[in-house]
Amino acid sequence: AAEAGWQWDKGACRFCGTGCGIMIATKDGKIVATKGDPDAPVNRGLNCVKGYFNGKIMYGKDRLTTPLLRMTDGKFDKKGKFVPVSWDKAMEVMTEKFLEAYREKGPTGVGIFGSGQWTVPEGYVGAKLWKAGFRSNTIDPNARHCMASAVAGFMQTFGIDEPAGNYDDIEYTDTAVLWGANMAEMHPILWSRITNRRLTHDKMKVVNLSTYGNMSSDIADIEIVFRPSGDLAIQNYIAREIVKRNAVNWDFVNKNAVFATGPYDIGYGFRPKNADKFASGKEMEVVSNEQVHVIDKWEAIAQRRKEGEQVKQANTATAGKDWAISFEDFKAALEPYDADFTTAVAKGDPDESDEAFKAKLKQLADLYCEPKRKVVSYWTMGFNQHQRGTWVNEQCYMNHLLLGKQSMPGSGAFSLTGQPSACGTAREVGTFSHRLPADMVVNVKKHRDHSEELWHLPTNTLNPTVGSHFVKMMRDLEDGAMKWAIVQVNNPWQNTANLNHWIKGAREMDNFIVCCDGYPTVSAKVADLVLPAAMIFEKWGFYGNAERRTQCWRQQVAPVGEARGDLWILLELAKRVKIKDTWGEQKVPGLKEAGFEDGKLPSVLDEAKKMGYDPEMSLYDALFATPENKKTYKWPDKVAKGHDNHIAKNLGWFVEKAMFEEYRKFGTGHGHDLAPFDVYYDDKVRGLRWPVVLKDGKWTETRWRFNEEYDPYVKKGQGIYFYGNDGKALVMGDLDKPGDGSQKVKLDGKAKIYFRPYASPVEQPDKDFDLWLCTGRVLEHWHSGSMTRRVPELYRAFPDAVCWIHPKDAESRGLKRNDLVWVESRRGKVKVRIETGGRNRVPRGLVYVPWFDESVLINKVTLDSTCPISKETDYKKCSVKVYKA
Ligand code: SF4
Repeated sequence: AAEAGWQWDKGACRFCGTGCGIMIATKDGKIVATKGDPDAPVNRGLNCVKGYFNGKIMYGKDRLTTPLLRMTDGKFDKKGKFVPVSWDKAMEVMTEKFLEAYREKGPTGVGIFGSGQWTVPEGYVGAKLWKAGFRSNTIDPNARHCMASAVAGFMQTFGIDEPAGNYDDIEYTDTAVLWGANMAEMHPILWSRITNRRLTHDKMKVVNLSTYGNMSSDIADIEIVFRPSGDLAIQNYIAREIVKRNAVNWDFVNKNAVFATGPYDIGYGFRPKNADKFASGKEMEVVSNEQVHVIDKWEAIAQRRKEGEQVKQANTATAGKDWAISFEDFKAALEPYDADFTTAVAKGDPDESDEAFKAKLKQLADLYCEPKRKVVSYWTMGFNQHQRGTWVNEQCYMNHLLLGKQSMPGSGAFSLTGQPSACGTAREVGTFSHRLPADMVVNVKKHRDHSEELWHLPTNTLNPTVGSHFVKMMRDLEDGAMKWAIVQVNNPWQNTANLNHWIKGAREMDNFIVCCDGYPTVSAKVADLVLPAAMIFEKWGFYGNAERRTQCWRQQVAPVGEARGDLWILLELAKRVKIKDTWGEQKVPGLKEAGFEDGKLPSVLDEAKKMGYDPEMSLYDALFATPENKKTYKWPDKVAKGHDNHIAKNLGWFVEKAMFEEYRKFGTGHGHDLAPFDVYYDDKVRGLRWPVVLKDGKWTETRWRFNEEYDPYVKKGQGIYFYGNDGKALVMGDLDKPGDGSQKVKLDGKAKIYFRPYASPVEQPDKDFDLWLCTGRVLEHWHSGSMTRRVPELYRAFPDAVCWIHPKDAESRGLKRNDLVWVESRRGKVKVRIETGGRNRVPRGLVYVPWFDESVLINKVTLDSTCPISKETDYKKCSVKVYKA
């Protein structure tokens, strides 16, 4: 009776990358309940503590319901106070400021901070509007902060993105090794499946490697606490053991892999031949790393800005500059990584003996090397948010490939995503500054040509220069290189490291920042215009989870107040910008290097006219509401269960379906095949894992990629085949350098086994800042806490952030549990309460502070140092001091 009048429908959890299915109940235009979907294969009816509140997050007391513009005396004023305005006024000022910035700075002067929580159609529209409409690659999602290193690792090793395996591996494997993945808190439903396997399968072992003890150790057979960056050495130790014990699976390696390495002379690091220096106690080789923005340089930046100079971005990317090496060279490179050396650089708990640490390393190597044992290695932010994030991803594949334990049921290296659609929207759609859909990139001509053809664009519309990545976009706003930015489903002024800079950049520079959100987040508070955004079930959408599963939901209720969907906001902007505003000649820094002699992106207006475009036409009509789309994708009279679509009603055509079908063309035949829109909306379907192909009249998903038994792209008889590297070759070289090109190795069907060295962190504890700081999440809160902290049950469960510190470190500073302290680095400080026990057991010398609490902006303290290849920030290590507040 309590459920009388409730209408249930299927949906997906809007929090983490696990991608649980949920059921949503609506009554009288409101979400009244959600529960785990019993038919969902991922979670089988369960949800974690956050998942049960998917509905409640929408009804916080301070939900934004109307646009807010900073004004004084009825006019926009950057120093003014927020005043409610109409959508018309908001869009008018937003467009005026956009065009002003575009005219002054060109395509690189306007940016969008997107999201791994964008729906697939939202991300697709954002990417198409920026890349095709504005000819700008200044677009980057918050997934840069969480997945970019995984993407770089996949692309470099396999030539194609995303995991070979899937969650079914859990029920097939004998071993789960967690590398910097506290699954018990971050992927709780997958953790419940691993726990079940641990308790019901005799052979099952769990290993938890982390820089601190956490809840994932509760069922672990081995817990290894390592020093920040020590994972690089441990991976090489395992590889050395595999070689030494003759455990290399030569049948697999000879057929499926090539040994490789790449330049080391970037950042702080040392080459294998310098290992003896470290062992003898001498300083490591230190090479400059301009990219590291270590000390507060606000004054220097202000001076440079005055002088009109931009802060330089170090050009240290080494992606694609690798070369093949012999097995003998590979083996020689591993030689320094014995148990003594690995313990010296990687043991993380000063209270643990060297012998005990070495014994655990051996046990770990035993598990990997045991011939018949199946092993899955899982990782999340521990690997990805790493100054050597790409390298450590590649190292994990190194060991699985050496053993031949890859792309098999129950065996493989598996990258878990943080966000619900980091895979679906950020990676697959290509909403990064360097990407196009289906793994294509903007700086490869044939990829641009293909995209221009599918998007029906004149040749050379797309900009060939890689845009600013996330941290660089923040720097661009601070330096005056970017003058207009919009934020969607993202909170950059809480989630970006070295925040004091960016807060000043937003408030003190002459730029215009638009923030779309459901709540007044930190980013909304520093913005100039705030747009109330529709939340999850107030719109239609698709997400793609960590196991390549694409799943959908229908709009359930109308948006609260005057809130509008992010897709609607982008389309409204597109309606107000004409093709003549952006498709004329444009100045773009870096074009000469990309082969455009005069350094200008040519006008495509004449060509556009020949193709039927009128210069007065809006980007909305040119790119989205084409006559064909309007005719083909009419809003059907009845979709299912009478659900609403405020965008379709407003526009008169079914934009989500049109965009999904258009986007689907990119992946079809390229290993990323999706089923048609309507297949996912079938009430019986609970998402499908791509590639999805039509087999015997049925749209059929793929469980294990690269394996002939499962993957439609692998021919019978090929066994394992890494087709992402088809047609590619590597120059042969030695450990230190590539050869002259006379010898090449074909990669067809082969993955790369990289040797990557240990490299020490760029900032380490010293006498002034004597502790490591590691940051992350807690089970109860999602990201910046802007939604989950508004759910009373979740707020009560974990109200405010705390700083976990070892009891002895607290005692030596005269501190006790619950004391208020300052956590201070060279960049900033925050006040926070200390915790000496509870769910985390930090070793002496390290503190852990979660980032969900806007009253403890820990990213004022963190270091904005990024992996030189992936440009992902390292939030896991910098040096701080802690003292009584
Ligand atoms: Fe599942 Fe993650 Fe949602 Fe929890 S937060 S219900 S684990 S998708």
